[in-house]
Amino acid sequence: MDAQLVAAVAGLVGLLTGVFATLAFSASEKEQRADADPKPPPLMPPGVAHVLAVLRSSAVVLDEEDNVVRASPTAYSFGIVRNGRILADELLDLARKVRRDGEIREAELEIPRGPLGGGTLSVLARVAPLGSTLVLLLVEDRTEARRVDEVRRDFVANVSHELKTPVGAMALLSEALLDAADDPEAVRRFAGRMQTEAARLSHLVQDVIDLSRLQGHDPLRAPEQVKLHDVVAEAVDRSRLAAEAKSIHIGMAAPENVVVRGDAQQLVMALGNLVENAVRHSPNDTRVSVGVRRVVGGSPELVEVTVTDEGPGIPEGDLERIFERFYRVDAARSRNTGGTGLGLAIVKHVALGHGGEVTVWSAEGTGSTFTLRLPLAAAITEEIA
Ligand code: ADP
Repeated sequence: MDAQLVAAVAGLVGLLTGVFATLAFSASEKEQRADADPKPPPLMPPGVAHVLAVLRSSAVVLDEEDNVVRASPTAYSFGIVRNGRILADELLDLARKVRRDGEIREAELEIPRGPLGGGTLSVLARVAPLGSTLVLLLVEDRTEARRVDEVRRDFVANVSHELKTPVGAMALLSEALLDAADDPEAVRRFAGRMQTEAARLSHLVQDVIDLSRLQGHDPLRAPEQVKLHDVVAEAVDRSRLAAEAKSIHIGMAAPENVVVRGDAQQLVMALGNLVENAVRHSPNDTRVSVGVRRVVGGSPELVEVTVTDEGPGIPEGDLERIFERFYRVDAARSRNTGGTGLGLAIVKHVALGHGGEVTVWSAEGTGSTFTLRLPLAAAITEEIA
């Protein structure tokens, strides 16, 4: 095809797309108007329609028989208006009260998300009389804000609970230490246990800080090219002493030239947590293997980092939940081995922040394999064999 013909075809396609878009838009407008205006609308105060059209929150004007006289575009997209009626009884009740006594009302309501399934939306509704016969409803979606609030409250409650254990233990140990001032052997024992509790406390505080940072708005502010080999080496190094103490051998197979785009510190933290878990949960004289391999095919290309252990494995029923904050299969055992219950939540956040994922395979009595999948850095894909 010559250049002129290509240009002509492209122009025609553009024109048709524009025409279709305009037709579709006006059809949806008409449908909305048909929804909103089943009969000629009663008189609305001047300018109201104009204001409704630009409002961010859902706005609906009802007549004396609860018919929708006018609604803002968001009221339709939010799903509170359908076929010229308000769907949620909770909103209608509020509107009727305002119509009866003319008083402005505001309420936080849980309204059904749809006709089926029992799901709900949290909304803030403000209702006011409009002229002598109409009622204006302004409805703001608070569902996401509510959810975030709940998550935050849960987190604070969990952290406080987790902090109580080491802080309480340290208070008791310091009392015991005072009582045992004349017994050097007991002093040594209590001081040692205080050190353990202090280490646990600082581990927990560090994990909380890491997780809060990761949950901030921009997980990857200045991504850089990161060599996975170096990340794996540092992550393994962090658990070297703990592994030696249990005669656990950590094997590592990572090619030198695999590079991902991201934050090296975060990746070391995530992989470090997986290796630490593998060592912590495994019995003495076992093996932990860390491997890096490129997943062939697929777009974008991925790399997989796997951490495999010969530990006790994880019951199938718990697999889905272990990435939740503070979820532990055996809480007492996790605490005793120095766990915070936040390790895997951190791994998950790092993976998501890098456009990747973390998954787990596990069989009780055999062991577990955690797999961190990350997009390969596009710039150097060619160099990697
Ligand atoms: P913890 O600090 O308790 O290890 P994590 O979030 O890192 O918290 O892990 C959550 C739970 O998942 C752990 O309490 C443990 O029950 C289980 N788990 C994690 N990694 C392993 C593993 N390699 N082998 C067996 N269980 C594991």
